Amino acid sequence: KKRVLSGVQPTGNLHIGNYLGAIRNWVEIQPNYDNFFCVVDLHAITVPHDRTSLADNTYTIAALYLACGIDLNYSTIFVQSHVKAHTELTWLLNCVTPLNWLERMIQFKEKAIKQGENVSVGLLDYPVLMAADILLYDADQVPVGEDQKQHLELTRDIAIRVNDKFGSEDKPVFKVPEPMIKKEGARVMSLTDGTNKMSKSDPSELSRINLLDSPDEIRKKIKKCKTDPIMGLSFSEDRPECNNLLGLYSIFSGKSKDEVSDECGDMGWGKFKPLLTDTVIEALQPIQNKYAEIMADKTYLDSVLRDGREKAENVANATLKRVKDALGYLPPI
Ligand code: ATP
Ligand code: MG
Repeated sequence: KKRVLSGVQPTGNLHIGNYLGAIRNWVEIQPNYDNFFCVVDLHAITVPHDRTSLADNTYTIAALYLACGIDLNYSTIFVQSHVKAHTELTWLLNCVTPLNWLERMIQFKEKAIKQGENVSVGLLDYPVLMAADILLYDADQVPVGEDQKQHLELTRDIAIRVNDKFGSEDKPVFKVPEPMIKKEGARVMSLTDGTNKMSKSDPSELSRINLLDSPDEIRKKIKKCKTDPIMGLSFSEDRPECNNLLGLYSIFSGKSKDEVSDECGDMGWGKFKPLLTDTVIEALQPIQNKYAEIMADKTYLDSVLRDGREKAENVANATLKRVKDALGYLPPI
């Protein structure tokens, strides 16, 4: 089977963008691949973080992977910082990655602007750590949202560069991975600004619907979300908010865009918003129920993460050894 790797940062609660752009696709493809899904907690400290919630967020995200349908028969779930090879390979890759490749990353520029003087070296290095995550597992496919496309291209460039410098045609150092970005749901937009993607790190809670939001919270957020004053509803590039909300209704209801256009074309927001609200609440209910079950027994979750770490370490350590050999390191004596 081909290998898949992907992850989410424990920077806050998972939102429907993370679900539709990433996790839902993981669940769909998992039977056909050998999958590694990690909680990327080393990435989570590239922006200022709260030490009192990092561990809890890590647990929550791992539990949500299971609640969303990640199946341990097909997939391994682990925590990035538990597998030391990630940081070690990052260093090795740092030393072959040109600085200007990182300086032009869109996510770095966007996140750096928000932080002014406090931008860390880690934020600049984020894509190299991500390259290490992927390359350590010889991943063939990386299912992510649209926002991670540029980082994946960088991962490919780094892999190709290392192969050119230190590998040979018949013995490449790294497998060069392919992005797997499903069109539908690849870029869920903020509820308060249809031109910005929904993000865990957006300071406004009203900008996103979290997978664990109560029905009341969901109702309130959709009630307050940004709309436009145009009559009727349509999928239109010129109407980012309308496009986004209709798209969400389409995905969560399982109806095609044409069906949604027919059903909602003549509606006003007053009629559409409650319809969307009920659909989202209903779609998230099974995930929330399963999450509550999983969190009731932490020993189970601990055993999942312990097994996951062991499996991940086996693969990652072998790759790291291969890389260090290729770079010419003296093996431990
Ligand atoms: P942060 O704001 O801390 O970067 P995030 O919401 O962007 O958080 P990540 O942990 O960075 O979430 O990304 C996890 C996965 O979710 C990635 O595969 C990413 O492409 C996907 N993703 C993130 N936001 C969206 C979105 N708005 N629409 C679709 N996919 C998304
Ligand atoms: Mg992100």
